[in-house]
Amino acid sequence: MKKTSPVCRVLVVLGTRPEAIKLAPLIRRLGQTSGTSVATCLTSQHRDLVRPVLEFFGIRPEFDLDIMAPGQALSDAANRVLRGVSRILAEQAFDVVVVQGDTTSALFGGLAAFYRQVPLAHVEAGLRSGDLKRPFPEEAHRRLLDILADYLFAPTVTARNHLLQEGAAPERIYVTGNTGIDALFQARQLLHRQPRPLPIDLGPGEKLVLLTTHRRESFGQPLRDILSAVRDLTRHRPEVRVLFPVHPNPEVRAAVSAVLRDCPRVHAVEPLDYPDFVQAMLQADLILTDSGGIQEEAPALGKRVLVLRDTTERPEGLDAGLAELVGTDRSHVLVRCLACLDNPQAADDTFHQLYGDGRACERIVAVLTGQASAAVTRRAA
Ligand code: UDP
Repeated sequence: MKKTSPVCRVLVVLGTRPEAIKLAPLIRRLGQTSGTSVATCLTSQHRDLVRPVLEFFGIRPEFDLDIMAPGQALSDAANRVLRGVSRILAEQAFDVVVVQGDTTSALFGGLAAFYRQVPLAHVEAGLRSGDLKRPFPEEAHRRLLDILADYLFAPTVTARNHLLQEGAAPERIYVTGNTGIDALFQARQLLHRQPRPLPIDLGPGEKLVLLTTHRRESFGQPLRDILSAVRDLTRHRPEVRVLFPVHPNPEVRAAVSAVLRDCPRVHAVEPLDYPDFVQAMLQADLILTDSGGIQEEAPALGKRVLVLRDTTERPEGLDAGLAELVGTDRSHVLVRCLACLDNPQAADDTFHQLYGDGRACERIVAVLTGQASAAVTRRAA
């Protein structure tokens, strides 16, 4: 019998934890779509953080570029992604390459597709902080990708407007919602059926503050100031416990050892597996973070988030009053934490869909397989 070849062969390139979280539901959906084949290329920019995410979603990468080397410069990592993805594209035919966000893996995986003239799809297109160097190097990466990509999957109308203002052709842009919200809702559903224990014990009446911080531009004094503010917080409010999954970056670990010694109510732990982290978000009274993805997830769960940065590419949470930019100044961070804990804001259902409704992957797959008109997808979000 004659074998029919798939109509759409997709290569998904990813390297870091947030890319894995945001692309896993898309990879799964592509895998379940008839007439479509999907292969996953892991660059291993973050190997230890990515593997558990892919396992949770039941994904086994077909390719592993294993690009990381100790103390490697960004340019060396970039070079290895470019060469690795180019080699795959030279050896196997793909109809489209999908990358997500703003990492070195995304930009140089995307550039490899561009050089080989394979259509490129950028998931989470159009995010802008307005400052090319903050976050560094992500803002530059995402702008460059949006020039190269054939399909621009913007998570929100704000992101689409950025692309239009920069001159992107409207027919390249699809507003889909953020695929990270698809992943979050899938994890939340699982946790409703099977809750996971927190890695720390909370006593009666105790409040949980969840902290993550690892941005390169905060390294040094700003990071030490953030951690000092958190230490001050537990001294001012004995009912507060801070759960702090610490990013493996050595700069972050050194700051934690220097500032958070002798702080019994600041629990610095290893990074949590994604469902455990979602469980912690669900239970948190307040979330402090400089992460991009967590700025999207917190409002989707009706949680208030203080953003430990001076700029953000996710203004929707600020506009809705669920997120606030507090920077890294020690006393300001403390004052805002105290104010939020003393005046808890009720969750409001309308905030839950700021960044997506959990159907972004469905829309993206419909576009990639030619089953949705641009107009339909644009109207959808
Ligand atoms: N996350 C996780 N475990 C943790 C901390 C975060 O699974 O211990 C998840 C979080 O839910 C979010 C993503 O990792 O989806 C954010 O990753 P990160 O802060 O590394 O990157 P960014 O969002 O800033 O790009």
